[in-house]
Amino acid sequence: MKITRVESIPLRIPFTHGGPPLSFAGKPRTTMDTLLVRVETEEGLVGWGDGFGASIFPNTKLVLDEFIAPLVTGRSFDDPAALSEELQVKLHNLGRGGPPIYALSGLDIALWDLAGKAAGTSLSTMLGARRTSLRAYASLLRYGVPELVATNVTKALRDGFELIKLHEITLEASQAARDAAGPSIPIMVDTNCPWRGDEAVHNAQLIAKMDPLWIEEPVWPPEDHETLARVRREARIPVAAGENAANATALIQMLSASAVDYAQPSVSRIGGITEFLKVSAAARQHGVKLAPHSPYFGPGFVATLHLLAAEEADIAIERFFLDLETTPFAGQVDVIGGRVAVPTGPGLGVEPDPALIARYRTA
Ligand SMILES: [Mg+2]
Repeated sequence: MKITRVESIPLRIPFTHGGPPLSFAGKPRTTMDTLLVRVETEEGLVGWGDGFGASIFPNTKLVLDEFIAPLVTGRSFDDPAALSEELQVKLHNLGRGGPPIYALSGLDIALWDLAGKAAGTSLSTMLGARRTSLRAYASLLRYGVPELVATNVTKALRDGFELIKLHEITLEASQAARDAAGPSIPIMVDTNCPWRGDEAVHNAQLIAKMDPLWIEEPVWPPEDHETLARVRREARIPVAAGENAANATALIQMLSASAVDYAQPSVSRIGGITEFLKVSAAARQHGVKLAPHSPYFGPGFVATLHLLAAEEADIAIERFFLDLETTPFAGQVDVIGGRVAVPTGPGLGVEPDPALIARYRTA
């Protein structure tokens, strides 16, 4: 296949979540953003990818437009992983984490989509699919108010979700979820890196009282593997982390340090499918479970779906629980009753609606 064009398309889709205003990296968060990466080939195929950040990190788009597009336009490829790895080496001086890796993630997913389309096979089939649908877990945003946590947990359970994740940092708010859900619903508590050292161990011990399936990112800074390992040992609570790892190598070092029970590669941040597969293989080797980060609605979500369909363990996929105006693949990969079917068409098996792109693109 010969690449003839690479285009990056930021989409901003407004949402509400029934709670107090949210912020992300110091800015108000009122939209869910997707940076679509569109790669066209001489054979007339179009592949779709997703680079983390979209309009939040304009540098992801800049790396795609200014560095990656000129390097790959006119290039022929058969093996997505080989081209992706070549680009990692070429671009390493831009930085081994953040927007350069997010941009490479977007390209990599599009290359795998193209490889599937060229072979006439779905991505999950290429990877060795073991299932045709997955459970999704409802990933609630932070409410901070126990009553609102309880209301939204009840709402998610009514929608058919059988597992819940919170983004809360207090026992009070987390306990409200447990009280609303009862003892048998698995509840995960994502704290987003709030505590250092002893404080992390102490607060994890508190949250352990509501019996979570795991505590996610209890430690600042996220690369403090030693303290994560201490939380596991001393708070006796399963720990999940990995979405903030700069790249696959860094995430695998986290596994070597016995820092986590659940590894959380994020396909649109870690370097795409190529790098996700390395983390998944390392997790198997280390006897660590996989629980990907997937706050995505576009190709990142669909790629995670295919990747999980090929895992030996039956792993639930993360789905943000909020009211989004629409999604990039509305009607094609909807979560219904807490489950989602893996698309069966070639590659990712989904195509964005051009009218939707025209309406929500910001550049
Ligand atoms: Mg998280």
